Amino acid sequence: MQALRLTAWKSDPELIEVDEPEPGPGEVVVKVAGAGACHSDLHLMHDFTDGLLPWGPPFTLGHENAGWVEAMGPGVTGLAAGDPVAVYGPWGCGRCARCRVGMENYCERQAELGAAGGGLGHDGGMARYMLVPSDRWLVPLGDLDPVAAAPLTDAGLTPYHAIKRSLPLLGAGSTAMVIGAGGGLGHMGVQILAALTPATIIAVDQNQGALDRASQVGAQHGVISGEDAADQVRDITKGRGIDVCIDMVGVDATLALGAAVTRPMGHLTIVGIGGGTLPISFFSIAYEVSVATTYWGTIPELMEVVTLAAEGRITPHIQRFGLADAHTAYEAMQAGTLEGRAVIIPD
Ligand SMILES: [Zn+2]
Ligand SMILES: [Zn+2]
Repeated sequence: MQALRLTAWKSDPELIEVDEPEPGPGEVVVKVAGAGACHSDLHLMHDFTDGLLPWGPPFTLGHENAGWVEAMGPGVTGLAAGDPVAVYGPWGCGRCARCRVGMENYCERQAELGAAGGGLGHDGGMARYMLVPSDRWLVPLGDLDPVAAAPLTDAGLTPYHAIKRSLPLLGAGSTAMVIGAGGGLGHMGVQILAALTPATIIAVDQNQGALDRASQVGAQHGVISGEDAADQVRDITKGRGIDVCIDMVGVDATLALGAAVTRPMGHLTIVGIGGGTLPISFFSIAYEVSVATTYWGTIPELMEVVTLAAEGRITPHIQRFGLADAHTAYEAMQAGTLEGRAVIIPD
């Protein structure tokens, strides 16, 4: 079968013929319906070199996957061929205290495991079949279309986890700001905020088209990023500032904006791996603001995200690409012209 593989750091992925996977004991082969193209794939192609991570190429890209159970190895029970499933992405050890509660994104033994998951050291979903080494990483999709559901596993799960930690701050009269609101994670984050909270949602992005997309999925206000963005946010909140900032971008300018407008005791949550830095000193940020990075989400949270989608309360907006056109998707992502999430359809 053809697979889109990263064969070396600092290179473009290549379509390469590889053997179809066979499931060993406890393993499941999934026929991939869709594999989301993630902005972090661009970082994999461009920003890493040998030794920066405990894993590396060659591997098949695609860490945001859904499909159908194709074949099961010995010992796998409770699944049947043809079952539609989402593939949970961060693969932990399964035995540490974090993994035991489904928080494999924060596995305590990640360093010794090497690869971080399918499409992140292990072979991912940008091929007809994907080997999933444990059935605990499969979440049933019910009636959801696996192509449209693929982005739930990262573009949905990552903002869900980031928002969930701040729910106590997001009661009536509160304000949440999503930076990068028109992007793959942002448009899901806006929908999740609208589904879970009564907060007023302020979308921040670079152009009016992105703000329009955010407003179509639940943002009440839109602000174009730039020098007077902070003043606009202060005006919208009548000077009070925002309770929670979810920064899907994470460059210097977006971090500075979040720090400038987050009110005392608010949360500033950095989701985007844009590589910016946020200098913190006693007077540079409001009192008792908590700054946190978050990484992906937990297995129970993925089940909750799937439930929200099944109830029609969140819907990934997707653009479909064939495997041979994956490079087009990544070019559009780099150029900022994607509308919603690019999903690669291998078959
Ligand atoms: Zn991702
Ligand atoms: Zn673990």
